[in-house]
Amino acid sequence: MICRNGCGAEITWDPKQKSASGKSIPIDAVTNKPHQCPNSDFAMKKKTPELGHSVIDEVIEIKQELRELKKIVEERLTKLEMSRWS
Ligand SMILES: [Zn+2]
Repeated sequence: MICRNGCGAEITWDPKQKSASGKSIPIDAVTNKPHQCPNSDFAMKKKTPELGHSVIDEVIEIKQELRELKKIVEERLTKLEMSRWS
């Protein structure tokens, strides 16, 4: 069967190969190793217990905070520059 994430890889299921949580994992039919899907963003969208939300949400949050911080730093720097010449 072809990977449902659309990466084009042929995958199989091996009852002997399971993830740590006991779930069946897709096996790459060519390498016979667990399929590391380049198209899989499932893990990114999945809620992470430690974060309380998904990794994607975390990245968005960090980016927003960075943007705000950058604004504050730029404002402070501008004030510093101005005071130097006044
Ligand atoms: Zn795949």
